[in-house]
Amino acid sequence: MIGSSVVVRTRSWIVLCLGLLTVGAPAAYAADCPGHPDALGTSRTLVVDPREHPRIGTMQYRETLPLRDHEVVLTFDDGPLPKYSNQVLKMLDDECIKATFFIIGGQAKANPEGVRKLVAAGHTVGTHSMNHPLTFDRMPVEKYEPEINGGIEWTSAAMTDPSKLAPFFRIPGLMRAEGVENYLISRGIQVWSADFPADDWRHVSSDRVYQLAIQRLEAKGKGILLLHDIQARTVAALPKIIRDLKARGYRIVHVVPATADRPATPTTPVEWLLHPPTETTPIARWPAVPNFVFTETRTLPAPALADLNAQSEHQPLLPRRTKAQVDIASTLPVPGRDLFAIPEGSVEVLLSTTLSRRAATRMAMAAETPRAGKAAKGKAVKPHAPRVAHAAPAQAKNTAPKNTAPKNTAPKSTAPKSTASRPTRVATSVKKRA
Ligand SMILES: [Zn+2]
Repeated sequence: MIGSSVVVRTRSWIVLCLGLLTVGAPAAYAADCPGHPDALGTSRTLVVDPREHPRIGTMQYRETLPLRDHEVVLTFDDGPLPKYSNQVLKMLDDECIKATFFIIGGQAKANPEGVRKLVAAGHTVGTHSMNHPLTFDRMPVEKYEPEINGGIEWTSAAMTDPSKLAPFFRIPGLMRAEGVENYLISRGIQVWSADFPADDWRHVSSDRVYQLAIQRLEAKGKGILLLHDIQARTVAALPKIIRDLKARGYRIVHVVPATADRPATPTTPVEWLLHPPTETTPIARWPAVPNFVFTETRTLPAPALADLNAQSEHQPLLPRRTKAQVDIASTLPVPGRDLFAIPEGSVEVLLSTTLSRRAATRMAMAAETPRAGKAAKGKAVKPHAPRVAHAAPAQAKNTAPKNTAPKNTAPKSTAPKSTASRPTRVATSVKKRA
């Protein structure tokens, strides 16, 4: 990761001159920011391969860019719109900051010069659809395909060198859908969400935009900030955001796509997680159950007690199972009735911990009913007993108390009125004491 990282600073005035003289010329890099000794600058360039990490941004996805603590990636959507985009561009140039812009095809069509300026200044340019519809989450393929392609075609058409277009796409309004993502990924395009927005598209003050940007960044410690270069409030907030980023020790990272002669920055999978799991953070996950399990009528997924995150003062946290154990558990045969046996004392524990009183009563009924049925053989058996007994242990009959309370013995303080005549454990213990 560090080895292939390139520390870059852009000689902004040179880039501007080059942009005017030879549009699309490669940016000139230097180790300083001429004329701006206090500039925030760009600390490094991160090269990413969209095929290896196709969805990024923790607002919606599991993975995000492999940033270190206090590293920020600035992104701007919906431009270029000369009135505001040019001001944003100037501020970034003055600070030698490299950002990523997600262009709307319609804007590129109306203002191709704005796209060329971004490329000339060395920023990364991705796309953001043709017309920015906020219906990507419910569009059929025949609608979203031309939206995606139209944006790409008009943005690359605006460039002197279309190969400068990054295979990065942000879905308008972040209205993600599986089909849209799969389509983009099949074309080698990386789907960019974000790690935090600053709500600069809402009717809020520029001060609020600044506050939200910093607060949300501080909360995560690093990440992708989503902004818009078509808003007056963003233009007004950006100098304060940049000033605060510098004061708080944040560093700007420039992201570019991998190419044949520019390999991806080496990373490990865990670096693509915003907060990698640690040994001290307990996580309960259900075992992954392959679909084919359900084609076998004699097998069912069989999660173990440990998967339920069950813990009490009587039950120490069980060690996590290995991958091999999980695979075995996911294809176990149908469990026998004795699997549902509730050990002595467990009902009371359940009553006092996780279950509602009503649910606990049902548990008690399931555990006690066969015993009641056995003890009451030849006597009056409740009509509902056989129905609930199917989940009860087969061997539980051996432990059935001899003097199961038949009716009307449950104390008012511990049993609901509706179950007062049922043979619950509570009723039995009270009868014994009596
Ligand atoms: Zn947008």
